[in-house]
Amino acid sequence: MALINSVEELDVILESAATAFGGYDMIFFTLDGGSLCRNCVESERENIVDAIKNDMNDGWLVNAAESNAAYDPGIYCDHCNVPLSAYEEND
Ligand SMILES: [Zn+2]
Repeated sequence: MALINSVEELDVILESAATAFGGYDMIFFTLDGGSLCRNCVESERENIVDAIKNDMNDGWLVNAAESNAAYDPGIYCDHCNVPLSAYEEND
């Protein structure tokens, strides 16, 4: 589990997750117990940056990330509802 305490750390993880060829994607976690996919973190980055900078626990305060290989199927993005586990069956 990678902890995220600053916008810089968020961006480093986003960058490495986006370029990890053939690797696993990351699941992002918020302080209030939510989980987000990388696409939503990227599209909602403004809200997340705002929450981190102002320490606002408004549902967008991303404070950790972990490889989706660490989770069994059944975990979904709280924003777009996409399945997050690397092992989710895709037809
Ligand atoms: Zn999402």
